Amino acid sequence: MTLYRKYRPQKFSEVEGQTAIIQTLKNELSLGKIAHAYIFAGPRGIGKTTVARILAKAINCQNKKSVRERRLGKVEPCNRCVSCQEITAGRSLDLIEIDAASNRGINEIRALRENVRFAPQRDSFKVFIIDEAHMLTREAFNALLKTLEEPPPRTLFILATTEVHEVPETILSRCQRFDFKKLTVAEIEHRLAQILREEKRALNPEILRLIAIKADGGERDAEGILGQILSWPKKELKLSKVADFLGTVDWSLITDFVNMLASCDNAQAIRKVNEIVANGQDLFNFTDELIDYLRRMMLAKVQPALLDHAGLSFSAAQKEELVARAQNFSLKSLAYLVRLFMAAKNSLDAALIPQLSLELAIIEYSEAMGKVAEAQEKIQSPQLEEKEEKPSFPSLPDEYQKPIMNLEQVVGKWSEVLKTVEPLNYSLCAFLKLCQPVAFRDGSLVLGFPRDFHKDMVSQTRNKKIVEGVLDQILGGKWQIQCEKVELQQNNNLTREALEVLGGEIVK
Ligand SMILES: [Zn+2]
Repeated sequence: MTLYRKYRPQKFSEVEGQTAIIQTLKNELSLGKIAHAYIFAGPRGIGKTTVARILAKAINCQNKKSVRERRLGKVEPCNRCVSCQEITAGRSLDLIEIDAASNRGINEIRALRENVRFAPQRDSFKVFIIDEAHMLTREAFNALLKTLEEPPPRTLFILATTEVHEVPETILSRCQRFDFKKLTVAEIEHRLAQILREEKRALNPEILRLIAIKADGGERDAEGILGQILSWPKKELKLSKVADFLGTVDWSLITDFVNMLASCDNAQAIRKVNEIVANGQDLFNFTDELIDYLRRMMLAKVQPALLDHAGLSFSAAQKEELVARAQNFSLKSLAYLVRLFMAAKNSLDAALIPQLSLELAIIEYSEAMGKVAEAQEKIQSPQLEEKEEKPSFPSLPDEYQKPIMNLEQVVGKWSEVLKTVEPLNYSLCAFLKLCQPVAFRDGSLVLGFPRDFHKDMVSQTRNKKIVEGVLDQILGGKWQIQCEKVELQQNNNLTREALEVLGGEIVK
């Protein structure tokens, strides 16, 4: 038996997720105000028919609760009486399940109309669960509509559908509608952990997380994958094996790689790509997952709340980690990375050496980031041999300066300032590397920037506070800064190209 069937929830309290729906149904049961017809809409494999069956059980349970007990919320089925057990075993005469997908339902609905006329067995409700209800033919819908228009007493219809927009409005308007949601990664992880406990098995939690992400909100899929994996020999139960099996890559591989990109560590990044090839892992999967991750960082950079609306599933910890990692990049550089690796993915197939297009993307990025020197170490290529020069700025006229402290002294301490800012805010440090202390004015230290963009970034209150705090710490006293744009001296072509591409974000 599959895990999904073996551990199918038999009570409302066992259902993972769908909290609002369960609560509403329990309220209706406790008030004795069950509708004649429900429609359960939502993606496949997230518990629609499971909840429908529990509802059927709850209204037919023979261990009747008193009105007072029900009012107190005791509405769960007992799972011990004949009615409950028959429903669990799938042989209840009061529960009729129709799969509209198999033969589009005409005969069933016709039979259903006949069936409805007979009173239910015992003192109970007749419950019709119509799965994939949107597949019913027009005739079947019409027959159903007639029944719903004059609902026979003690009859309950539950329509489940993945395509609610294909269900006619006339039907919808006669049903109470519930929209089932995909489960979150945390909910699926929780559910899988529960099953493992029941099965008396243990797995690396990272494996559960990987399954939960892969299942993309589908509980049935997640449990299906878990069932398959549990049948493997124990020594095969490794994170990398599972990742391979799922056609995915474990996040640590991606996050390591992204860290290497952030620090423009070409040698490490290229080594990583070659390792993937050597291990026989799929470069397509890796590149897909990498692009997906970069996209998530890009969205996080635009606004972290976007992550919740982009149909992306991941755990809270992963989200936090991702938002933090995105701080190491500018929005432009993330967009650039996504484009680079999309292009690399497209040429994976054509390349004689599969990893070459990824290696090129790595180098192109770090080159654009102005880290040519490191690229030279790894790959000798004549066109990469230009030397970077640090942009230098003209000083402002003397009368412009009101020195409180010798400007040279400040400049002398500047690298120390940068080193202190770096761990606090990586991109702020990158901006500061482009500027130069140029003057004192009105009791403030004036920082000269080659571009408005950087000037504006550092001028943001939050960033300004960081810089001033660090100056206080390194130079002593109380510091204030002003940022302004100064003319950048003509630099070599490569730097200017890089500036164009990245809006001027140069690390060194
Ligand atoms: Zn019962």
